[in-house]
Formats: sequence, structure tokens, C-alpha cells
Amino acid sequence: MTTAVAVPRAGGSGGRTAVAARARQVTKAYGGGETRVVALDAVDVDIARGQFTAIMGPSGSGKSTLMHCLAGLDSLTSGRIWIGETEITKLKDKQLTRLRRDQVGFIFQAFNLLPTLNALENITLPMDIAGRKPDKRWLDTVVQTVGLGGRLKHRPSQLSGGQQQRVAVARALAAQPEIIFGDEPTGNLDSRAGAEVLGFLRRSVDELGQTIVMVTHDPVAASYADRVLYLADGRIVDDMADPTAELVFERMLQFSGDESRTPAEYFEARGRTS
Ligand code: ADP
Repeated sequence: MTTAVAVPRAGGSGGRTAVAARARQVTKAYGGGETRVVALDAVDVDIARGQFTAIMGPSGSGKSTLMHCLAGLDSLTSGRIWIGETEITKLKDKQLTRLRRDQVGFIFQAFNLLPTLNALENITLPMDIAGRKPDKRWLDTVVQTVGLGGRLKHRPSQLSGGQQQRVAVARALAAQPEIIFGDEPTGNLDSRAGAEVLGFLRRSVDELGQTIVMVTHDPVAASYADRVLYLADGRIVDDMADPTAELVFERMLQFSGDESRTPAEYFEARGRTS
């Protein structure tokens, strides 16, 4: 058996679009009247298939809202969203639930593992629910690369935070979904464990054509991406290709107006604390 490649690379054959997710004029407002908050303001974005995209921006700029809307976890005030060929803003609840289950993977900062299941059972749970058989070889690759080999029978309470997050990452990757959304997926990991997880996400994009969208505050994490989108006040204000940590950090400073530290000082401090 060969490793199944469920998601062709961008531009690949097979008649599938090279866009894994698309947003058009997406607006999301909370509240009304004087308390109305516009979290997303007429956002247009295409997420290319087989790319690793990072979403950055100051706190409150709309990063989580954009991710939740793209993933079909949150409804819109207006606008349209597609995952692959399917317009999810037209789907009924049941159809949307099924699409999320079959085509979308999630990695959150909180690990969201089921405490009564062991690591392997947590990893295969979404596929078990969907009635899909895991690809054994791919599952082995995932488990091995995330470094869980000896701990598959452990329950979450018997694992460290870093190990629990690795289970959550493996769970998202194991089903080879159309697109994976990560909300600060390495936010609870030390820099070494974080780098391992990011390296694995990178490889799943390069070697398997997986599509990943990740919200992060960390310029080093963002530097693993192919593209960095910056949000400010619910709008995409910058779109950077081939980021480096230094370039991302400089851009962050530009948008936050914080000039208290130079990039060199930031990375020195990061190296000391992590
Ligand atoms: P970020 O992820 O960049 O920190 P969010 O997407 O969480 O930003 O929030 C964008 C804006 O929407 C913020 O002003 C926030 O206060 C507001 N917001 C988010 N969720 C809600 C909610 N459930 N009710 C009211 N306002 C919200």
C-alpha cells in the first residue's frame, strides 16, 4: 500500500480548484447600535491549496473570527465562503457539520482531547466517527514524526502538555483533510517542541500537499509559513510571501506602532526565555 495523497498540490491535475478556501466580502459584526463591533470588514481572501498560511495581527484585529468563519464554525453577517468547491455559507447545519467533519482539521491551543481515550484512539476518533479507515502507513508516519511512538496507549492525563498537543496535531493530520486550521497551535509548547511541530506541519505541506492556515502571534512560527496575512481592524492590511522571522517581526512593529524593541532585541529576549 502506498501513502495516500488525498490533497493534490496546487495546480495539480484532477480537476480540483487550486484554492482550498475562499472568502468574498466577508463581514462579521457583533452586537448592535452603539455597541456594534465589526470584527471582519468586507474581507476577500483566497487560501491556495498546498500552502501554509499564517494569520497575524494585533489582539482584537479579527484573526480568530476570520479563522472561525473560514472553518465554518461561525456564521457571517454578510459575504460568502467556500471550502474547495463548496459554498459553506449556503449549507444547512447538518451539511456543514458533515463537511467540517470530513474536510476540515483543527488544532487549537487547548488540546481538546477526550480524557477517557488513549492517544491513538484520540488520533483516529474523527475517522472512526466518519466511518473511515485510517491509512496505516500514513498514520505510522504521523505518529512517528510527531514523536508519540511509545505513548500511544497513554491517556491524556498521563502525557505532558507538549505531548498532548502532539496528539492533537496528529489527530488533525491523520485524516488528511482538505484544510487544517490551527489557532496558536504551538502556543503552549516550549520552543523546541514548538519547532518540531512546526517542522512537521511544514513537511505535511511540502510532501503531501496539505493546506494549513494558522493564527499566531509568534514571528518565528509565522516564518514556517509560505505566506503571512496581517489583519488590522477586521481588514487584511498586508500579504507577505516567503516570510522570515525578522521580516515578520519588522512588519508587526510597523502595524502595532510598538518601537520599543528592535528585532535583534526581540529575538535575543526570545532566545533567553524559551
Ligand atoms: P483576534 O483573534 O485578532 O484577537 P477576534 O477575532 O477575537 O480578534 O476579535 C475581533 C473583534 O471582535 C474584537 O473587537 C472582539 O472584541 C470582537 N469579538 C469577538 N468575539 C466576540 C463576541 N462573541 N461578542 C462580541 N464581540 C466579539
